[in-house]
Amino acid sequence: MPPQSETVQFVDNKNKTESTTKSTKDTDKPEIWWANAILFISYHLIAVVGAYYYWPNNWRVWMLFYINWQLGTLGITLGYHRLWSHKSYTARMPLRIVLAIMGTMGFQGSIKWWVLRHRLHHRYTDTDSDPYSAHRGLFFSHVGWIFLKSHYPKMENVDQSDLNADPVVRFQHKYFIPMALTYVLLLQPLIGYLWFGDAVSGFIWGGIIGRVAVWHCTFFVNSLAHYLGDQHYTLEVTARGNLILALLTNGEGWHNYHHSFPFDYRNGIRLTDWDPTKWIIYALHTFTNQVPSIRRIPDKDIEKASKRVISHKSGLPVVQVDGEILPVVPKSEVKKIYKDTKCVVIEGYVVNVDKFAEEHPGGEGIFRAYYGGGDCTAGYLKLNRHSEYARSLVEGYRVAKVAAE
Ligand SMILES: [Zn+2]
Ligand SMILES: [Zn+2]
Repeated sequence: MPPQSETVQFVDNKNKTESTTKSTKDTDKPEIWWANAILFISYHLIAVVGAYYYWPNNWRVWMLFYINWQLGTLGITLGYHRLWSHKSYTARMPLRIVLAIMGTMGFQGSIKWWVLRHRLHHRYTDTDSDPYSAHRGLFFSHVGWIFLKSHYPKMENVDQSDLNADPVVRFQHKYFIPMALTYVLLLQPLIGYLWFGDAVSGFIWGGIIGRVAVWHCTFFVNSLAHYLGDQHYTLEVTARGNLILALLTNGEGWHNYHHSFPFDYRNGIRLTDWDPTKWIIYALHTFTNQVPSIRRIPDKDIEKASKRVISHKSGLPVVQVDGEILPVVPKSEVKKIYKDTKCVVIEGYVVNVDKFAEEHPGGEGIFRAYYGGGDCTAGYLKLNRHSEYARSLVEGYRVAKVAAE
């Protein structure tokens, strides 16, 4: 969506007064954003009619569509989202230029326009100040917001100094419309003509349908990723984790983790979690000089967040121990609750030894008889004198406190 017509909504501080006055007045009943609505609907109409009359019988046309879809989506996930919105890694100028061009192919407004709204989404998730609030329904969070000229009084709380300081962002913001239109209206037909001798198919499949695919895959993250999937890291917001969406969005579908730790360059944290955006950032960091640094949340903090969610989901009373929130389990319930797990009881706490049992100097066998909630405190205290480090490891794997009956 071209952004410039709307710049006044989140203008720089010098125009804040004008912005705030207008916002307050318009917040109650946002006007229809006709230009956006017409553009958006036209794209879909052309896509449907074009697909009907120009269904490809040439693999090159499919290839052009696929390249457009993937490059545009990666421009959004690698550039707009993980680099500029969250600063989850740093990128040198040549890479930033490439990402700005790829992001322009996403046709979702300039970097500055997109990033400010995205930051607002994270800061005020699920409230009226969230541009894509899931509480306003699936349709609104997916595409409904596109049709409204909403104003965001809270936008003045969102920092944009880093964006204003980046010459790549400034240039792309200034020339976004001519760049985006040139790409769709001129470049795609030209590529179609030169590659497979069909400018119209180039326009329809590269320019229009490629764009519609990028749009909906991105918008799914605002809509379906707040409705379907798991919540392992935070229950405070509607964000969820979802493999299907991760497949469609180059890894952005792991949205519950992302809302919990937005500065992590990963959205899917396990190595095997489908997240090509993460793999590309890591490869650029490891094999080139274009990504000097990446940000990664320590495993300890992730484990803590996950435990906290498990505690809340269990519905049991909780207690805070060394800054961690743990559920309190009655002694008589321990074996029932932790029946099929590699959890044991040590000194009044349920400890999940799954991760370190194999590395334990005494071997995994030492725990086996106690799996399922057995109490191995006596062995822990008598068989060996554990070091401070060993004790702190055990503390790190606590999952519950056992209540004396
Ligand atoms: Zn979200
Ligand atoms: Zn985000």
